Amino acid sequence: MPIVEKSLVEVDRNDSVKLDGIDVSGDWSAFLRSRVVADLDPCILDWVKDQPLGSTITRCWQCGTCTASCCLHTDYGMAEFNPRYFLYLAKIGYATELRRYTNTIWRCLSCNKCVERCPKGVKVEEVVHAIGRYLRVTGAAPESPADRFDRAFTENLLDRGILDEVALFRTYERLEGRRTPLREMLRMGVRLFWSGRLRTGPFANRTRGWNRMREVLRARLAEDERRALSTASPVRAGAGGTR
Ligand code: SF4
Ligand code: SF4
Repeated sequence: MPIVEKSLVEVDRNDSVKLDGIDVSGDWSAFLRSRVVADLDPCILDWVKDQPLGSTITRCWQCGTCTASCCLHTDYGMAEFNPRYFLYLAKIGYATELRRYTNTIWRCLSCNKCVERCPKGVKVEEVVHAIGRYLRVTGAAPESPADRFDRAFTENLLDRGILDEVALFRTYERLEGRRTPLREMLRMGVRLFWSGRLRTGPFANRTRGWNRMREVLRARLAEDERRALSTASPVRAGAGGTR
């Protein structure tokens, strides 16, 4: 049976308990709740390792170096963001537990510290994204802000073969349905101007001969998406459930 960390530990907490005048308050009786994993789903690992981003998942030996290096987990105090655990859940196919992290997994900052430090050469950042994508394409997670940013970024890059920061920002704002206050826009505009990146609209840079490349990339992306959707079985309601 797989070992599933804190969620299985039940602590009986006793505050201010005295016995014969001695303070004995604290955590008593820590139990491991007995659970039997009823239905693990091997399709999750098959799907993730079949993706361009997820192929290194099988190298993971669960040392935890990635989690110890992860700035979200350590510096930003987001204890529930645990890349080692995400990989573990995907490998054993524990869908129910994985679904608990649909609001967390997309928050990866792509800083790649985990990748730098992984002793087994796992592309942790990519694998975490692949697992997040699995949850999305199977309908277990809604499109996240990170997904929308990826969409805006990809469209922007496909358009001219080079990033137009202003257009990217505006597209992302539109997708998120929000408007940045004028003062903030002006502040960013000045910064972009001084860094030489205010070329936008008809003045934006473009990569020479990009039209042909754009078609090739679009076809490849469409093929990837089609394959991802056709090979992902919906996360079954009870998959990985416990009793
Ligand atoms: S550092 Fe690499 S091998 Fe270790 S748990 Fe993370 S992904 Fe797995
Ligand atoms: S790339 Fe993501 S998972 Fe890896 S250390 Fe950075 S925030 Fe953590």
